[in-house]
Amino acid sequence: MTIGLYAVINKNTGKTYIGSSKHVELRLIHQKSFLKTGHPCMIAALKNTSINIEDFDFKIIAETKTIEEARELETAFLECFWGDWLYNKAIHANGSKGVKRDHDTYSAGAKKQWNDPEQRAKKMAAMRGKRKIVECPHCGKTGGGGNMRRYHFEKCKSK
Ligand SMILES: [Zn+2]
Repeated sequence: MTIGLYAVINKNTGKTYIGSSKHVELRLIHQKSFLKTGHPCMIAALKNTSINIEDFDFKIIAETKTIEEARELETAFLECFWGDWLYNKAIHANGSKGVKRDHDTYSAGAKKQWNDPEQRAKKMAAMRGKRKIVECPHCGKTGGGGNMRRYHFEKCKSK
């Protein structure tokens, strides 16, 4: 079993759902059956639309060692590639909308960048860089990615 990030891609429209799981292969099988049966919990946006399972591609896009890392990566991915081309409703893996952002600036060109192999490689590197282990200069706590950015550095309580 693989821990990591997966994508469910509508081959007709290019619209994509990004998720993370402890058991990607299993999750992908579940997502397939969710799609087949019209189960709403996968993609709210697909509710009440008719779905042909053959229209969807299921891909593992990144492997990680832990589920925490996978969630960080999911959030970093959404932050990097956020736009209308995603089925995802929230920019954070935990479902929170996080910091209020101008989604339009994110949407601009995000799908294009994702489809262009060179740009994608660059962005993927940036997104992985986002979750490298860092140390807060104020309290000395170390960690990866989003939580550190959200609760430390400029926002650190010990500052
Ligand atoms: Zn701190």
